[in-house]
Amino acid sequence: MKSTTADLMMATYKPRPVTFASGHGATLVDDAGKSYIDLVAGIAVASVGHSHPRVAAAIAEQAQRLIHASNLYGTTPQLELAQRLAQIAGRRLSFLANSGAEAIECALKLARRYHSGTRPNFVATVGGFHGRTFGALSATGQPSKQAPFEPLVPGFMHIEYDDPAALSEAVDETVAAVILEPIQGEGGVVVPSDGYLQAARHICDRKGALLILDEVQTGMGRTGTWLAAEHEGVEADIICLAKALGGGLPIGACLARPEVAAAFQPGDHATTFGGGPVQCAAALATIDVIEDEGLLERARVGGARIAQGLVDLGRGTVRGRGMLLAFDLGVPSAGALVSAALERGLLVNEVTPSAVRITPPLVITDDEIDTALVRLGEALDAI
Ligand SMILES: *Cc1c(COP(=O)(O)O)cnc(C)c1O
Repeated sequence: MKSTTADLMMATYKPRPVTFASGHGATLVDDAGKSYIDLVAGIAVASVGHSHPRVAAAIAEQAQRLIHASNLYGTTPQLELAQRLAQIAGRRLSFLANSGAEAIECALKLARRYHSGTRPNFVATVGGFHGRTFGALSATGQPSKQAPFEPLVPGFMHIEYDDPAALSEAVDETVAAVILEPIQGEGGVVVPSDGYLQAARHICDRKGALLILDEVQTGMGRTGTWLAAEHEGVEADIICLAKALGGGLPIGACLARPEVAAAFQPGDHATTFGGGPVQCAAALATIDVIEDEGLLERARVGGARIAQGLVDLGRGTVRGRGMLLAFDLGVPSAGALVSAALERGLLVNEVTPSAVRITPPLVITDDEIDTALVRLGEALDAI
C-alpha cells in the first residue's frame, strides 16, 4: 500500500493536493503533466526561475569537485560568495548559515556579543516574522506562532510596525538591537511609510543600538533593488539574507559591518553545513543570473505590470513593491481563491485570511503575467 503524507510526515503543513515533478522559469508541472504558472516561487525563493540551467550546472559541477569540507577550512566558492555579498550589501563580513532563521540567530547573538552583555534586550515589531527557531521565534511578533512554545527567549519587546514614536520610546540603553523587515512579508506584505527605515536608523544611532534588517524575503532583488532598504538609502549594521540567495538550495547569510562583526571570537558561533561549497556555488550562479538577465529591473517593471493588472481586476486592493505583492480581497476568502486558482493552473499563496501573496520568479514573462491575471480573474469569478 502506498504511504501518504499523513502516514510519513509530521503535520506541520497542510499541503495542497498537488505533487510537483518538474519546473522551469515561472512554470511548475505536476505528476500528471498539468502546468501551473507559479506566483509563489517556493515562497520567494526561486527568483531566477525553477531549475535555472546555470544554477543547475553550477550545482552539478561543484558537486563533482567538492561537496563539503566544513568551516574548519575555507573553500573557494565560500570566499567568492562573501566577496560578492560585500559588493551587494556594502563592506560587510559574512557568516553563512543554512536558512533564514539561522541567519537571524547569528544576528541576535552577534548584537548581544557586540554590547558585551551590557544590553540584553531587543525591540521587534508586531506582525514581524523572523523564523521558527527559539531566538527567531522570540523576535517574531505573532502570538499565535509563539504561544504554544513558551517560555521563549527573554528580552524581546514588540512595538507597532511603522510607528517611529513607539520605536523611539522603546529603544533605551538596555537595547542591543532593533530588528525589522523593510516590508513585513509573512505578516501580510505590509509596506511602511516612506521615511520609516530612516527614522529607525536615526533612533538606533541616537540610542547606541544596532539596526538589524531582516531582508530574508525582501532581499536579493525581490523588490527591484538588491536590498529593499536601498529604496530609503538606509544601511543596517546587520543584514540577514536567505530565501532567494541560493537559487533554491538552503543557504542564509548574516552580514555585519566589520566593527560589529569583530565582536565574534572563535568559538562564539558555528555551523557544520553553513556556507558549504555547493550552496555557495548555487548562490554565485544565482547572483550572476540576476545581473546578466537584468532581473532587478525586471522585478520593477514586471511587478508594476502585475500590480496594475490586479488593480484592473477591480476586486481587491494591492500593496507591495516590485514582485513582493499582496492582493487583498477585504473579506476572508483568500483560502478559497488559492484553491480556485490551483484548479485553473495558477499558484498563489494565502498570506492572511483576506489576502493572497504574489511573489513570482523574477524571470516571469509579460505573457505569463497576463495569462496569470486571466486565470486569477476566473478564479475570483468562481468563488
Ligand atoms: C522566511 C523568513 C524567515 C525564516 O527563514 P527560514 O529559511 O524559513 O528559516 C525569516 N525572516 C523572514 C523575513 C522570512 O520571510
